[in-house]
Amino acid sequence: MTQHPARIEALLKSLPQLDWCVTPAEVKRRSLDYYWFSPVLRRQLEGKSADAIVRPRNADELREIVSGCVRENVPLTMRGGGTGNYGQAIPLEGGVVIDMTACDQVLWLKQGVVRAQAGIKLGLLNELLAPQGWELRCMPSTYRMATLGGLFCGGFGGIGSITYGPLSAPGTVLGIKIMTAEAEPRVLELRSPEAMQHAHTYGTNAIIVELEIALAPAQEWHEYLITFRDAEAAFDCGQAVAQAPGIIKKEAAVFAASVATYFKKLSPYIASNEHAAIIVINLASREALDVFVGTAGGRIAFEQTGAVAKATQHTLLEYCWNHTTLHALRSNKSLTYLQTTYEYGREREQLAEIERAAGSEILNHVEFIRDERGRLIGSGLPLVRFTSESRLQELIELHRQCGIHVKDPHTYTLGNGTHRGAMSPASLAAKRRFDPDGLLNPGKVIATT
Ligand SMILES: Cc1cc2nc3c(=O)[nH]c(=O)nc-3n(C[C@H](O)[C@H](O)[C@H](O)COP(=O)(O)OP(=O)(O)OC[C@H]3O[C@@H](n4cnc5c(N)ncnc54)[C@H](O)[C@@H]3O)c2cc1C
Repeated sequence: MTQHPARIEALLKSLPQLDWCVTPAEVKRRSLDYYWFSPVLRRQLEGKSADAIVRPRNADELREIVSGCVRENVPLTMRGGGTGNYGQAIPLEGGVVIDMTACDQVLWLKQGVVRAQAGIKLGLLNELLAPQGWELRCMPSTYRMATLGGLFCGGFGGIGSITYGPLSAPGTVLGIKIMTAEAEPRVLELRSPEAMQHAHTYGTNAIIVELEIALAPAQEWHEYLITFRDAEAAFDCGQAVAQAPGIIKKEAAVFAASVATYFKKLSPYIASNEHAAIIVINLASREALDVFVGTAGGRIAFEQTGAVAKATQHTLLEYCWNHTTLHALRSNKSLTYLQTTYEYGREREQLAEIERAAGSEILNHVEFIRDERGRLIGSGLPLVRFTSESRLQELIELHRQCGIHVKDPHTYTLGNGTHRGAMSPASLAAKRRFDPDGLLNPGKVIATT
């Protein structure tokens, strides 16, 4: 049901030239993201929808719609590919969803730095960069659908973070262009670190129009699925490859046998009860990989070149990060997941501790990445056999008692320490300056000071 019928009517009437969608089923579909990975968010966000979707084709159209929404006092929620997991892009109070995917131009590329519009899809951006010898430093496993602006405002990093850290690592995002949510929208250029006040803020404190990011030299990546009889050997091998400075890598993840069993298309290669690792490296590092695999008693069960992965549209990268959860959910709807970070140097110990405490309720999946300080750490996306919301909360507490940091993926708000991510005082101050009427994605920020 439309929450602001008269005001939406007025908007549509005043801006008929824009690319609107008001077909209820379509509006509903484009109001949602992958919030359903969480049974808690599924319950909380069911039925939420915008009143209308608009897809600006350029910055002028974006300005017209933002100005119109502010004048009519209509909430506006930004949307990239709509692949977020925490309902970030789901409007809680109706209004207009601004689909940014038509604002997808590369503006310039020089000396390993690219400037592009926020709505460009990451996969497309990588394809455009490759002939010039560059690629994105990090990207989510949803790179085919996810946008640059969506990654900056709602994501973290992922593939490539093993070498370059998360997107927020200093030196990667160099600057952004924002638009304010005001009747006369202002367009401002912000350089880092000020630009980072808008990172991971769910589009609540400005509209991101353009981003300028530093790149990595493009490589030819080869993909390896390695299997092990022993879980600890799988972990040790993944970690050793991840840590080895001479191995040029893009991805290293390990999966318990109970997780690998959900990789249906890879099942011809993984024997039952085998644990798995997915490792993506430059071919020059192949012989070194063989040594690590041999030492750990593993076997290379499947391998392919990046060119084959691209041609077949079947890449091992799409078994990593939250694609692991997606594969599992396809087979078993009662599963959900957590997001964890293990203490540097105590990863194996903590994994064993949680296994003792939670047993088969937790199914291990660890990704190796560099943190912002450059340390090679274990970042977990363990699957959880969901029974109830209270038990899920207990499992989160159990992790915390073991000293494992949990970023709770079962909340849609940005708040203080108990919630998923805190808005820094500087980010909150930016919200007051650039969204004075509180129209941007309302309901997502619970801290007001
Ligand atoms: C299967 C699966 C795997 C995933 N793997 C990863 C992973 O490896 N790493 C990772 O970090 N994430 C991962 N995610 C989460 C998500 O895919 C990424 O964070 C992705 O980068 C989000 O981009 P998007 O364009 O889809 O953003 P959306 O979901 O469209 O938006 C995300 C947030 O950003 C805001 N926003 C979007 N564009 C703008 C803009 N121009 N201005 C202001 N605000 C804006 C939205 O309002 C929303 O709050 C995964 C999700 C799924 C479903």
